[in-house]
Amino acid sequence: MARRKTKNITGISRVEGLPVHDSYVAFICINCKELNTIHIGNNLIEQKEAYENALWKCENCDFIHSKNTAIPFTNWKKNFRNAHSLQAERFWRSFFLTSTENPEAFWKRCGACDRILAFHSFSKHIGWGPLERQMECRACKGAINAELNPKRTKQQLHESSVRRRIADILVAEENEKIDFKELFKRFDNKCFKTKKPLDINKRKTWAIDHILPSKYLYPLTVSNAALLSKEANDNKRDQLPSKFYTNNELIELAKITGADLTLLVSEQPIINSNVDVNKCISRFLTVREKSNLKKRITELKKLIVSYDLIDKLSPGNKKLLGIKE
Ligand SMILES: [Zn+2]
Ligand SMILES: [Zn+2]
Repeated sequence: MARRKTKNITGISRVEGLPVHDSYVAFICINCKELNTIHIGNNLIEQKEAYENALWKCENCDFIHSKNTAIPFTNWKKNFRNAHSLQAERFWRSFFLTSTENPEAFWKRCGACDRILAFHSFSKHIGWGPLERQMECRACKGAINAELNPKRTKQQLHESSVRRRIADILVAEENEKIDFKELFKRFDNKCFKTKKPLDINKRKTWAIDHILPSKYLYPLTVSNAALLSKEANDNKRDQLPSKFYTNNELIELAKITGADLTLLVSEQPIINSNVDVNKCISRFLTVREKSNLKKRITELKKLIVSYDLIDKLSPGNKKLLGIKE
């Protein structure tokens, strides 16, 4: 079936209307040896269920793969080929098991090249359906990134990194020391996103999620810290919690950390207005003695204006930063 394709900014078409979260099972027909893929949808099938109920028909030769089908291998002893022989039963159990035993066994359809490919052909993407894999295969992703990355202008990248750096300095003093043992206890020694067990002694395998990002002036505090695996944290980066966690996860997170759920669920950044802007500014201006002060004041002013914090400034700081009443 021909699908309509849409252009997007990368100039690489994505297949429209593709259920991007869905998974497929793939098998080689045991009769004609052709590769088949079966659309599964958003839920992976259980091994047992596959063995009990599957009737996987080969698109090429119509051979039905099911526990009630006789084995077609002519080099097998006749009584082994009978569907209800112990040999055939074991064969079918393992046949369905290998296609469904874990997420790695499933396949996924690439939104850019429209090929159905094995799990490992897609990079990780937490929260993207049962396989937690990206929408495009790694090959297409390479092409898309080649096109996309230079387009995010240097200027934009620079501005966002400057802003993050300023914000980090502004809130630095309000960061709390996070007790790792307590953190692990609160999160039951597991990655909050993937539920993978974590080992406190393997420091490179886990990370502390700064839940509400410092970019929006939230310090790292006990109620703003979540335990994540390294990979999950790499995916979260400084995104808003609502962009990374599901609703149920946000609710659970608020329960565990005591954080304000209304802040966690917000889809627009809410600047932390509880931060003491004036205190932060004095500190910001006095740290890093050797840096270019004029440039830093310009950058700070930009942040204060864009975060709508002017009203929070003391008259002295307004004057200091050359902001008119
Ligand atoms: Zn076949
Ligand atoms: Zn592809």
